Amino acid sequence: MNITIVGTGYVGLVTGTTLAELGNTVYCVDIDSKKVDQMKLGIVPIYEPGLEEMFLRNIQAQRLFFTTNLKEALDQSEVIYLALPTPPGEDGSADLSYVLSVATQIGEMLTDYKIIVNKSTVPVGTANKVRQTIAAKTNIEFDVVSNPEFLREGFAVEDSMNPARVIVGSESEKAQEIMAKIYQPFTNTGTPIIFMDEKSSELTKYAANSFLAVKITFMNEIANYCEKVGADVDKVRLGMGSDDRIGHRFLFPGIGYGGSCFPKDVKALIRSGKQEGFDFQILEATEDVNQAQKIILVSEIENYFRGDLKGKKIALWGLAFKANTDDIREASSLDNIKLLLEKGATITAYDAIAEENVRKILGDEISYAPDMYSALQDADCLLIATEWSEFKNPNFDLMAARMKQKVIFDGRNMFALEQVENTDFRYKSIGRRTIG
Ligand code: NAD
Repeated sequence: MNITIVGTGYVGLVTGTTLAELGNTVYCVDIDSKKVDQMKLGIVPIYEPGLEEMFLRNIQAQRLFFTTNLKEALDQSEVIYLALPTPPGEDGSADLSYVLSVATQIGEMLTDYKIIVNKSTVPVGTANKVRQTIAAKTNIEFDVVSNPEFLREGFAVEDSMNPARVIVGSESEKAQEIMAKIYQPFTNTGTPIIFMDEKSSELTKYAANSFLAVKITFMNEIANYCEKVGADVDKVRLGMGSDDRIGHRFLFPGIGYGGSCFPKDVKALIRSGKQEGFDFQILEATEDVNQAQKIILVSEIENYFRGDLKGKKIALWGLAFKANTDDIREASSLDNIKLLLEKGATITAYDAIAEENVRKILGDEISYAPDMYSALQDADCLLIATEWSEFKNPNFDLMAARMKQKVIFDGRNMFALEQVENTDFRYKSIGRRTIG
């Protein structure tokens, strides 16, 4: 099948490459001409494990093309996927301007039947808005389908090639048939495709992300309470997670969730609720708790230095919002950096993958180290903000030799307490006793 993907970011590029890998001819359209030029040269503009190989293979096989010209791509395709940004507007509601402006353009360009598949995360009722926007410009038949995306950054290729399920929201039989054909390689190997009405499909995505945000936040509160009463969150989570109604995943405490999805989706669902006179109390609490959790170690650092961070040199390991991605949107590292700089500290950060993106917004407000040990040179303490696996088994002797004071604030519980116990370090993590 010939398919157009509009918006070639984390979701669009991975979806486009996956659909090409499944044998389709895919035209990736992006408004960012620099990005399109890069991709035409075989350069992947984002960091995603496993993507480059698949991307290059499909370019070479002439199944994956890049353009800024929507009309050119659309004319050659039967199905148009929208993978456009839906960032939070000022009031927290999803900004639909990208999606609706492309819908207007599609309406103006249609010459024959097409299916418009929305992969962006959007509030209930958006498929209908897209339909009305296109219909205002054309009399040609078309269908709009909701097909939310569940991939995780850092595992996007794996998730896209092996989805747990495919959700298709559409009441059009014709569209359902074509969607079933696109996803046949998945259903053929047992992946369920769940057809539903478009509103339920749109809500499924928000419900899933919000539930995961609640689960993380619940565990963070349990961790904070563990510290008050002297319990160990590692033991508690193992005990809880062994119940298969709960499971072990998403029970790891830390300095809050970030990224381009959870914060914005929680906000958008709260806002959508308000528009219907409905209060999502649990989500409002989740947002507040998470915001406080992101910077919970700053007050610990401040207390340790008796309220005076002026001139303190802080080493920071990790800038990405989580491991295996270069994405820094809503990253906890940024909240910590902002606050620590305000309090007069200086920061030397290390993150091999996300540094470039942070440089774009912070420039030389902080320093950047070429490796994890260099970041520690003369540092008064180390703060860990991302769970990159290279931080898991460091050489504590080398660390101690580099640092001025042997103090670690670990926002991602990277080390087992036993690992640190035999060192000279003072070690503060989340939900566990402090060592030293
Ligand atoms: P992104 O910001 O990485 O990519 C969006 C792309 O769209 C950019 O390349 C941008 O240049 C392009 N674009 C903007 N306006 C355009 C236009 N008019 N025409 C063509 N291209 C245009 O965004 P993303 O992270 O891929 O997210 C896209 C959607 O998918 C959002 O709704 C998001 O909530 C949802 N989603 C994201 C993830 C994730 O992990 N990132 C997972 C599931 C769902």
